Amino acid sequence: ALTAGIVGLPNVGKSTLFNAITQAGAEAANYPFATIDPNVGIVEVPDERLNKLTELVNPKKTVPTAFEFTDIAGIVKGASKGEGLGNQFLSHIRQVDAICQVVRCFEDENITHVSGKVDPIDDIEIINLELILADLDTVNKRYQRVEKLARQKDKDAVAEQAVLAIVKEGLENDKPVRALEFSEDQWKIVKGLHLLTSKPTLYVANVSEDEVADPDGNEYVQKVKAHAADENAEVIIVCARIEEEIAELEAEEKEEFLEDLGIAESGLDQLIKASYNLLGLATYFTAGEQEVRAWTFRKGIKAPQAAGIIHTDFERGFIRAETVSYTDLVEAENMTTARERGKVRLEGKEYIVKDGDVIHFRFNV
Ligand code: GDP
Repeated sequence: ALTAGIVGLPNVGKSTLFNAITQAGAEAANYPFATIDPNVGIVEVPDERLNKLTELVNPKKTVPTAFEFTDIAGIVKGASKGEGLGNQFLSHIRQVDAICQVVRCFEDENITHVSGKVDPIDDIEIINLELILADLDTVNKRYQRVEKLARQKDKDAVAEQAVLAIVKEGLENDKPVRALEFSEDQWKIVKGLHLLTSKPTLYVANVSEDEVADPDGNEYVQKVKAHAADENAEVIIVCARIEEEIAELEAEEKEEFLEDLGIAESGLDQLIKASYNLLGLATYFTAGEQEVRAWTFRKGIKAPQAAGIIHTDFERGFIRAETVSYTDLVEAENMTTARERGKVRLEGKEYIVKDGDVIHFRFNV
């Protein structure tokens, strides 16, 4: 399963946020694949569409989809030099598919900041620098190998050498690879290099309790937003302490609490949705009288593969996917009407599943 890693300097609120994640925790019984690694937190993906489908179909059971956050502890200055914990930190980052970087945007005299003062841009740069240095190391080694082959006019090597040159120049100018521009073919080569700074990244600005309703007044948040815009990265604003409290509440209490605070959606819910997108994930639904359920798939996959997410037999014996878009189904209010209106399509093996599809798979056993 794809996972987003949570990183950040010490004392920025990482553990507090991760606690909120594990507290909010998904009902384990629904997710037998769930790992029991204490550094992995499984969250249910909030999705209003699932509630609406439940209203329409009135099933015995509703099951949201879920995904994993991984807590990556222990960034230290000098990590890229491969000392002790540093090495471990980098290898943990290598294993995640996207990065959520928590930065401190709250002042609190009682909580020391590793650099002595609150400065989220400085924090971002400390972490990015370690990752950039580690990538430079990878790229330089690779460059030497490819250079020889390129001299012998090996076509792939020539193409890779050109890409490595762009990457190297970017990294040497402190630019993470995700902020560089590549053609589609070049991007394929970049991906093959498995560089740390090529992983999709978002920033989590941790603000204080009194600022969460109106975070735009916080100058640190403004700075983080400007920095993120340069990289085309998203910023999610949370108050980790409040998220910890929210995570303990039941759904109804949670809504009241949020209303009192003056926020429409909890920071954690926003973070879950944004991370899900960042990982290139999307959701399709199955809606039967027994169960209405959301399923996660990687954008771009075809119907048989999507069926295989439910059960390998569904993929092996795939015949077709009876598909209606969520919007069409909600407009029609039920399958019969949707069918009468010609909104239910019979899709075959080549169909590329879309976010929000409501699917009934037909298959041979
Ligand atoms: P970590 O080292 O990044 O994992 O940071 P922690 O989660 O342990 O947080 C460090 C300290 O900051 C703890 O005392 C937290 O209670 C406090 N803290 C975390 N988030 C917030 C917040 O949103 N507001 C305030 N005031 N304190 C926070």
